[in-house]
Amino acid sequence: MFKTLIPKATSRSLLRPVGQASSTFRPSTFYLVDRARRGYATEAEEKDLVIIGGGVAGYVAAIKAGQAGLKVACIEKRGALGGTCLNVGCIPSKSLLNNSHLYHTILHDTKNRGIEVGDVKLNLEQMMKAKETSVSGLTKGIEFLFKKNNVEYIRGTGAFADEHTVAVNLIDGGETSVRGKNIIIATGSEATPFPGLSIDEKRVVTSTGAIALKEVPKKMVVIGGGIIGLEMGSVWSRLGAEVTVVEFLGQIGGPGMDAEISKMTQKILQKQGMKFKLNTKVTKGDDSGDTIKISVEAAKGGKEETLDADVVLVAIGRRPYTAGLGVENIGIETDERGRLVIDQEYRTKLPHIRVIGDCTFGPMLAHKAEEEAVAAVEFITKNYGHVNYNAIPSVMYTHPEVAWVGQTEAEVKNSGVKYNVGSFPFSANSRAKTNLDTDGIVKFIADAETDRILGIHIVGPNAGEMIAEGTLALEYGASSEDVARTSHAHPTLA
Ligand SMILES: Cc1cc2nc3c(=O)[nH]c(=O)nc-3n(C[C@H](O)[C@H](O)[C@H](O)COP(=O)(O)OP(=O)(O)OC[C@H]3O[C@@H](n4cnc5c(N)ncnc54)[C@H](O)[C@@H]3O)c2cc1C
Repeated sequence: MFKTLIPKATSRSLLRPVGQASSTFRPSTFYLVDRARRGYATEAEEKDLVIIGGGVAGYVAAIKAGQAGLKVACIEKRGALGGTCLNVGCIPSKSLLNNSHLYHTILHDTKNRGIEVGDVKLNLEQMMKAKETSVSGLTKGIEFLFKKNNVEYIRGTGAFADEHTVAVNLIDGGETSVRGKNIIIATGSEATPFPGLSIDEKRVVTSTGAIALKEVPKKMVVIGGGIIGLEMGSVWSRLGAEVTVVEFLGQIGGPGMDAEISKMTQKILQKQGMKFKLNTKVTKGDDSGDTIKISVEAAKGGKEETLDADVVLVAIGRRPYTAGLGVENIGIETDERGRLVIDQEYRTKLPHIRVIGDCTFGPMLAHKAEEEAVAAVEFITKNYGHVNYNAIPSVMYTHPEVAWVGQTEAEVKNSGVKYNVGSFPFSANSRAKTNLDTDGIVKFIADAETDRILGIHIVGPNAGEMIAEGTLALEYGASSEDVARTSHAHPTLA
């Protein structure tokens, strides 16, 4: 497996096990040569591990490897660490979701709670500043962790020069290169463009433009009713935009969301003012006038209709990003969807090069990328690692939130397993009633014979926090009775 590493027969005095201090030397582990002693006569410095991409996958791998005692370099071209998640994804979107929810609550929901407020005004510039403060605090925190764990941060764009060397075009000018005994590719993903609509991130935007609009659009059309479209649609709807979501499929939330939960969520969001056109496809867009004209028709074909918009959000999904990386020069393969092909230990055809996060298989989620980072580094340092892909939760941070883990009812049904469903509405939960926040349900799907939990689906207040208990239950192979017999504090939503 570790073809690039030095065989055990090499003189012991020159060697140390990967990730172990000399005092914990174990002869059974594999060895790396101490670079200082080997003395490469090349301009490229050699590291135990080089990581391309400083997003969640890359920075977690870098920190974990640094903690394990490896010499690590992480190359990032954005000028800030944290990748999509911290800079233009999870974090800024959640800042806007949280603050737009507060604004909406103050405008529409405080009077009956006994709080009368005067003139409520939106200061969008300040809301954006609050978002930027969260982002910069977190990205700088990662730089601090790099320093603390001896990770070298190389600011630039990396491309393979050969199987062990990454050439870097530096942001501050000039070039360098770095050699890696092991290399991890963690270059992430990008928004999938919509054919015929050119993105300017001002009027025709991806999520990156949608988290940075300078004013609230009067009318917004969201192409794609998945999680990102609904979260960003929610933000602008709460701030006053008339939002229409056009979705090709017959349900919102993407195929991972349980159909019953999806229907309920759609009703709740409709009550909040969002409009939906399901089973509908966008046929063309025209942004030459003052407003953008979006032509739509039934997915199966039918009469065309035109929607007017000041801003169009293209949210039809994300695709792996490997542009300019030069993987083709060293024979690393991508599949038909552009995902880098790997085995179960995240190895490409070249076993010293691994791939994790959005640019390879699996759900495009930050916590999935993070789990893979830990596992990939453990494969390098300990020869084993593990991610339980059956217990990766998903959360949509609308209000109420939608969260799930495990299989949907349709998936269980299709698998042929006999199952039971139990559900409970928040309208009968004392805390939800106290909080005047009763929309939603919790739905458990369990094996009819063993009672083992197969899936948990929640739409309701704080669903994103509560799903952690469901994930733990699934991870531990709990039955629904195990959860029911566990004491839960009263009165809580959990
Ligand atoms: C609007 C939005 C909201 C989201 N919300 C959530 C959420 O709430 N929860 C969740 O789990 N997930 C969320 N996601 C998804 C999450 O952001 C991604 O799953 C996660 O960022 C993937 O991490 P990654 O490290 O694989 O890739 P990325 O975060 O994309 O990082 C890859 C990094 O590699 C760098 N890079 C690329 N090529 C090179 C190169 N050649 N040289 C040097 N650097 C390079 C890029 O600049 C980038 O910074 C959201 C995404 C978006 C867009």
